[in-house]
Amino acid sequence: MLDLKSEYLYMKSDIDAAIAACLEHQQWILGPEVREFEEKIAEYIGVKHCIGTSSGTDALVLVLRALAIKTKGEEYFNRNDLIITTPFTFTATGDAILRAGATPLFVDIDPATYNIDLKQIRSCLESFPHGLSPIAHCPFRILGILPVHLYGRSCQMDEIMSIAHEYGLFVVEDCAQAFGTEWQKANGERQKVGSIGTAGCLSFFPSKNLGGFGDAGAITTNDNKLVGLIRMLIKHGGKDKYNVAHIGYNARLDTLHAAILLAKLKYVDEFNIRRQYIVQLYTEGLKDIPGIVLPLASCLSPIPNNSSHVFHQFTLRILNGKRDALQRYLKGSGIDSMIYYPVPLHKMKVFSGRCVLYGGQLVSSEIVVEEVLSLPVEPLYSEDLIIEVVKAIREYYIN
Ligand SMILES: *Cc1c(COP(=O)(O)O)cnc(C)c1O
Repeated sequence: MLDLKSEYLYMKSDIDAAIAACLEHQQWILGPEVREFEEKIAEYIGVKHCIGTSSGTDALVLVLRALAIKTKGEEYFNRNDLIITTPFTFTATGDAILRAGATPLFVDIDPATYNIDLKQIRSCLESFPHGLSPIAHCPFRILGILPVHLYGRSCQMDEIMSIAHEYGLFVVEDCAQAFGTEWQKANGERQKVGSIGTAGCLSFFPSKNLGGFGDAGAITTNDNKLVGLIRMLIKHGGKDKYNVAHIGYNARLDTLHAAILLAKLKYVDEFNIRRQYIVQLYTEGLKDIPGIVLPLASCLSPIPNNSSHVFHQFTLRILNGKRDALQRYLKGSGIDSMIYYPVPLHKMKVFSGRCVLYGGQLVSSEIVVEEVLSLPVEPLYSEDLIIEVVKAIREYYIN
């Protein structure tokens, strides 16, 4: 799906110099590159603060733990504390809610965008707590919303923020797949995702749009109190080693990772634009095939002029039960494709009895897991390579 070796060679001199500088100074824990990276990311996303973390998953857990401490004065949420999120995401989103002590309240997606359905969030909050079995006798409270900007497309943040404001909820944005994605507000102003909610969580897992050489992540926020708490939690829970106030982690961003990510950051906008161009080629090649649903060009305006979708994944819906056969056909032609995600979170064992489903069922999520197929969007792939993929798909439909 990706060619990380080519990406390295494309920016080799920058990356090699960054690593060499670390070898020279040997400040491996919270060295100067960590602070520099945090400053650059805060500026890029458009927030006051950024805190580097050991992964995107840890970023989510840290934000939620800090919110429990800040809003409840407790180390963890409890199981009656519900956080609204989508079941159509990577496991880490829901898992972070459990690890922070709370319970995910899964609300179905809008299949047109694959993101959480705003209308359902609203009706969920209006009807709450009626009809929220299976754990009927608990005094549930909804405390927050954790929207995921899936595949690189922004959720509808104006509406989410206005719902949150109305009901007094926090909003933690899962931006793991959406580095660089912008949301255009009703007044036309643009904001990067990760700067709109209470906090944003970024992942620099190697396959993400800004990918490092290992696990890494970051938190973005304008909330000074949260920053103070998170800075303690990432290093064992205290202001210093012998003054420990909270149940902490060792969850810092490594200096070496920060240095490499700083070198790669210079290329991220260029690469996101290349992704959009590749998607345009796919779209032109596939738009007339009945039985294939292409992603909406954007929630806002046509690609590639806006960056409201950074296409971490280019994902089709393959209708009429043909998805798996098409994937096998592509594989036979030497073309990789992936299924993100084959199982919605509420069908996983870890969430059984530990989550609540709004309305008792999540129909769209259960349909799309059978239909989605993601095609390669490596920014450095040539036009010819993409056209080959298009050809193979067309061949499959002709035969
Ligand atoms: C990758 C990802 C994460 C977790 O990030 P890691 O850095 O791999 O821990 C969380 N949420 C979503 C939606 C992701 O895609």
